[in-house]
Amino acid sequence: MIVIMKIGYTQEELERVIARIEEAGLRTHLSVGESTTIIGVVGVPIPPELQSDLEVVDGVDSVLRVTKRYKLPSREFHPEPTKFKVRDVTIGGDEVVVIAGPCSVESAEQTLSTARAARAAGASILRGGAFKPRTSPYEFRGLGEEGLKILAEARAETGMPIITEVLTPYDLDLVSRYTDILQIGARNCQNFLLLEEAGKSGVPVMLKRGMSVQIEEWLSAAEYIMAQGNPNVLLCERGIRTFETATRNTFDLNAIPVIKRLSHLPIFADPSHGTGKWYLVPAMSLAAIAAGADGLMIEVHPNPDHAKSDGGQSLTIENFNKLMPQVRAVAGAVGRSVAAEAVPV
Ligand code: PEP
Ligand code: MN
Repeated sequence: MIVIMKIGYTQEELERVIARIEEAGLRTHLSVGESTTIIGVVGVPIPPELQSDLEVVDGVDSVLRVTKRYKLPSREFHPEPTKFKVRDVTIGGDEVVVIAGPCSVESAEQTLSTARAARAAGASILRGGAFKPRTSPYEFRGLGEEGLKILAEARAETGMPIITEVLTPYDLDLVSRYTDILQIGARNCQNFLLLEEAGKSGVPVMLKRGMSVQIEEWLSAAEYIMAQGNPNVLLCERGIRTFETATRNTFDLNAIPVIKRLSHLPIFADPSHGTGKWYLVPAMSLAAIAAGADGLMIEVHPNPDHAKSDGGQSLTIENFNKLMPQVRAVAGAVGRSVAAEAVPV
């Protein structure tokens, strides 16, 4: 349920509405926008008479029931887009944010050289997996804490914030000590315990779409994080599994404007996993920006044919350098710009 306040309501009226909701054993989520102030009612059960009781409180314009399964990520609860800062990078703002880096952290040299090149081309955030979810237990599963240390070293050198995946609740404290954004991968999109623990950590979370997760389920998964008091969630479309085998996944471009309509959360696109083919990554990167994505996450490797994971979908540094001016051009065509300038480091 949401309570929409009248234009010109007083602080006292607002407090009275909140107190009335709390009296019913429920919590509130306040969203003060430029033109509307909305109080979201959080918790269950909502007593049936609460709606009519609140409608007669001074300062209340209207009270609406939210029938969706998810509330905190919904536009109804929070009409203004969510923006937050990760170090000095704004996520969900006017500017397109590019995250780039290798699928896996393999060595200091590999990660640092990629970070320098990504920064120079205008990426704002460095990615790299230290704990890797792999289909087979015999594949490279990441360097663990050593990988986190390498990422931190790359951050110290380039100034780029870092994002890395957390696979289990057991690793959360460790990963949170190093990273600026926790990545929850497709395979863990509905690992509800991990989502709740990530919510409690207070660290910003990128929630990737599960490969067979519908948009309502995805937003409900975001609710698990947000319900623990962590509003800093960004979503990332990374393709879904369909009958099509020409690509690794079917990159769901539709999801970008659908999420924009249903949710206030920032939405990123990962055309690397979305396509699985390096030569399809540029086209889908540009399409995602045109469709309104707040940012991109792109796998870049200095030597993709020797990568320990996802080499076939990783851009070489040269190809990433070619893509970035095109990303800037498409961003410009839709009235946006890219957060970071190209700056040699
Ligand atoms: C990744 O980002 O390297 C990754 C494993 O992604 P996903 O969870 O989308 O498969
Ligand atoms: Mn990968």
